[in-house]
Amino acid sequence: MEVSEANDESFGIEVIPAEDGKPAPCCPHGPTLLFEKVGKGGEKGRRFYACSACRDRKDCNFFQWEEEKVSEVRLLAREAENQSKRPVFTQQENCSRFRKFSSLPLDEKKFCQDCQMLLLPGEHEAHSSHRTTAVSTDQLRRPSVLLRPLDNKKSNAQYLFTDRSSHFLLDTLAGLGYRKVLCVGTPRLQELIKLRNLEQKHEPMKSLLLDIDFRYTQFYSQDEFCHYNMFNHHFFDGEASGAVLQAFLTECDGQKVVMVADPPFGGLVKPLASSFSLISHTWRKLQSSDCSNTDIPMMWIFPYFFEPRILECLPSFTMLDYQVDYDNHPLYKHGKTGRKQSPVRLFTNISPRDVVLPKDEGYRFCSVCQRFVLSLNKHCAKCNVCPSKDGREWKHCSMCEKCVKPSWRHCQRCGRCALPDHPCGQGEGQEGCFNCGSLEHKRKACPLKDTHRISHRSNAKSGGKRVSHRPLLKPKAKRKSGAARRAKKLAALPK
Ligand code: SAH
Ligand code: ZN
Ligand code: ZN
Ligand code: ZN
Ligand code: ZN
Repeated sequence: MEVSEANDESFGIEVIPAEDGKPAPCCPHGPTLLFEKVGKGGEKGRRFYACSACRDRKDCNFFQWEEEKVSEVRLLAREAENQSKRPVFTQQENCSRFRKFSSLPLDEKKFCQDCQMLLLPGEHEAHSSHRTTAVSTDQLRRPSVLLRPLDNKKSNAQYLFTDRSSHFLLDTLAGLGYRKVLCVGTPRLQELIKLRNLEQKHEPMKSLLLDIDFRYTQFYSQDEFCHYNMFNHHFFDGEASGAVLQAFLTECDGQKVVMVADPPFGGLVKPLASSFSLISHTWRKLQSSDCSNTDIPMMWIFPYFFEPRILECLPSFTMLDYQVDYDNHPLYKHGKTGRKQSPVRLFTNISPRDVVLPKDEGYRFCSVCQRFVLSLNKHCAKCNVCPSKDGREWKHCSMCEKCVKPSWRHCQRCGRCALPDHPCGQGEGQEGCFNCGSLEHKRKACPLKDTHRISHRSNAKSGGKRVSHRPLLKPKAKRKSGAARRAKKLAALPK
């Protein structure tokens, strides 16, 4: 069987939490994850290990059946392969390269676009047939502009914040009194923090970037960047990085830490939540005061239709109405000027009433819900919430006894609200979109098909115990299938 078969629409893939004492084999991206195919009827398939970070075999073709015996020869070959994928320069080497580069005269500062690296004078020759550009001091401070965004559609597309969104995030966090920002997959936020510090107009902030994109090691010192995989909480430089993280999470002189994560949009919510919980655990152990029950303050940036899955893993989180938008993502732009609205939101354990959303961008405070919402998101007296998830005004259906999208009509035959052209009478047990979970289309027609990788179904359907060995994850009691269906319905995109 090919792993790609796992992408078949009729199947779901589940991630199985690792068991203690049964280490997963490693690919170049660290420990692999254990997956299980689940058929339509909920029957389980064979389990296999595959890469935690890459869903496309082209990027990482690691595959191993759970019970498979791997020969010594293959293990050695695998080890050699993993070694060969290591970055050319160590982080220490990169730091001294950066120092040398910074002290070069302007006309000797060159960046190779083909190799995506800063070149020292002795290296210009070897890259003479490549496309190179000069690097100004300002450009050196904006690596997220200098580096070509990774555009691997399936696993590692980089969508960079607009100025609007990154300034909003930073102003909000600074306003809440945070002085240290742990940037998980948010290189542009880290960059903005450093730029602002230079301006000396704001109170200085510290930041540490954890990211799998090791091109960033060229620009940051060891205490500013760790090469990290957020799907398996793997530090590529091992204990050295672990120590850097610990030092950063230690709140001395009352410098409060907050974590901001913007993972690639995929369905691997469980492994992400698990990694974030481990970071929280590390943070908690370092607190001097009694924080035995608190988690590290966090903002997790993700599309709204993942709300049910995120809340399933992190029940203390709230989804905010704020729409995060991106420079290099045509779909995910801010709605104000008539462009499409971004489906990307902030999920946070910070009290929602403290996160003030800008009035001039169309947000208001709902005093009943005690949170800021889009103005169009009218409070429903019957549901007693501001119900809209997608930025449009929802309407109450008295038959469904809840608010639904404006484009939906109540269907007598299905006994629920749906799009007027929904596949009528097929409601129960219908399989939705494998990519985003929507019941209204299949993966082939998914509007997010090219921007999201394959999602991994939640375990709502299958039986069997799934005890996480990670105590910090708080999986809620297994949801009923009705809730699972509702979750999928919620996942529907704006139409
Ligand atoms: N909006 C952010 C970028 C988000 S794109 C900003 O403007 O700063 C997703 C980021 O996560 C990228 O920086 C990417 O390199 C990183 N990333 C992707 N897969 C990852 C993984 N498995 N572990 C850690 N970081 C990852
Ligand atoms: Zn080159
Ligand atoms: Zn309200
Ligand atoms: Zn209805
Ligand atoms: Zn879809």
